[in-house]
Amino acid sequence: MRPELSDYTHLSAGKVRELYEIDDDHLLMVATDRISAYDHVLEPAIPDKGRVLTAMSVFFFDAIDFPNHLAGPLDDERIPAEVLGRALVVKRLKMLPFEAVARGYLTGSGLVEYRDTGTVCGIPLPDGLTEASRLEPPIFTPATKAEQGDHDENVSFDVVVEKLGAERAEELRDATLSIYSRAAALAEEKGIILADTKFEFGLDADERLVLADEVLTPDSSRYWPADSYTVGKVQPSYDKQYVRNWLTSDDSGWDKASDDTPPALPADVVEATRERYIEAYEKLSGQKFSDHI
Ligand code: ATP
Ligand code: MG
Repeated sequence: MRPELSDYTHLSAGKVRELYEIDDDHLLMVATDRISAYDHVLEPAIPDKGRVLTAMSVFFFDAIDFPNHLAGPLDDERIPAEVLGRALVVKRLKMLPFEAVARGYLTGSGLVEYRDTGTVCGIPLPDGLTEASRLEPPIFTPATKAEQGDHDENVSFDVVVEKLGAERAEELRDATLSIYSRAAALAEEKGIILADTKFEFGLDADERLVLADEVLTPDSSRYWPADSYTVGKVQPSYDKQYVRNWLTSDDSGWDKASDDTPPALPADVVEATRERYIEAYEKLSGQKFSDHI
């Protein structure tokens, strides 16, 4: 008999995911179908998104040779039926208080900081870079996790050293960059650019560094189609582009700069977005989404 979700203590609700306590050593991480854009959770949800993101995380945990927090299979008997396919049993870790970001291309908050100071997280970059410029080698750009509703704040490597000590900070940076490179190479083979990605790491009972949270999903990464890549322009993101385009089009009647709640997504935008998420998963993993639990 599978447990009910209500058998577990609910620990937290993020914009997209819910965390439950299974026991002292294990958590249940549930991905919902919610979608967020421009810091708003949108209505309605995208059917199957939670399952797609869970399948994608599992694919990359398997593909990446680094200790991770998975503590059971997708059909683990501790997973309630109602969340089967979009939940994972994970080892409960002591999370490090940084988002470990790797960037191989300049965009987003990295570009904003570069335009202001010529650096990203204190790392000086060459002159003349622009939107979507490739960074060679990729850089480690840590951020502190913001309280709910706030933006994460980019910090320099020195801040990480101060908090974690030089040895752990270097281990974190090296792990982040090596996992990014491995995943970027894998994506490149499939015609997809992994522009940047965010990891979260924790420490296990033996103080060993372990890769946690979700990994290499479209929610934690920027994926761009390689065939339309053009430097100097904002690239279409692989998955949320329909949503963003619609929200900022005249059709939606929504003003991004306002504090207003965005309007509900029309059915065709929901369906197109769902298809893009599935396409991203199938392209990257080489597996069929219909085979996912
Ligand atoms: P939001 O994503 O809305 O900004 P959030 O990051 O707090 O908020 P989620 O990403 O939904 O919310 O929640 C996942 C939470 O679980 C994060 O706080 C993450 O650090 C934590 N977490 C992930 N893996 C583990 C783990 N193995 N052990 C303990 N905590 C974990
Ligand atoms: Mg999160």
